[in-house]
Amino acid sequence: MLADITGLSRHFTPDSLRAHLLERATRTPDGCLIVHGYGARRGTYQKVAGRAWAHIAAYVVFVGGYDPALDIDHTCGVKDCIEPTHLRQVTHAERCRDRRQRPYCRNGHVREFDETTGRYRRGCRACNREAQRRWRQRQAAEVAHARATAGWRRGADVPPTGTP
Ligand SMILES: [Zn+2]
Ligand SMILES: [Zn+2]
Repeated sequence: MLADITGLSRHFTPDSLRAHLLERATRTPDGCLIVHGYGARRGTYQKVAGRAWAHIAAYVVFVGGYDPALDIDHTCGVKDCIEPTHLRQVTHAERCRDRRQRPYCRNGHVREFDETTGRYRRGCRACNREAQRRWRQRQAAEVAHARATAGWRRGADVPPTGTP
């Protein structure tokens, strides 16, 4: 079965490949198992054990029944994840069609389903909320900074003139 993994270094056995993958993987709070392959790029498909794609290797040794004619899809949308329950095989056409219909946004939030269109909503409210929160924090920091600077000039405990 390891013969199906293109580019895999020949000295691996299913057991040693499993150990190799797990040694390089870190569990995230979302349940993903992020593998660190060669190179510094994260969030993208990783190469391990010679020139093998980590998600394909993981599918072969952890899930089994790999069909090289089909694509592997990440249900979590995280390309460097090798958690076996996040991997499934689909046809290339299915994968392209599904891309806009993923159940999670690119930050891993569960997407909202729109009953009227039968599709997921385009925008992610959780992402919007987070963006707004970051914006407010930035604003608050700027205001605090401005106040501190003004207070420094004026004397911290003296209220500004004209304030009731
Ligand atoms: Zn995952
Ligand atoms: Zn989101």
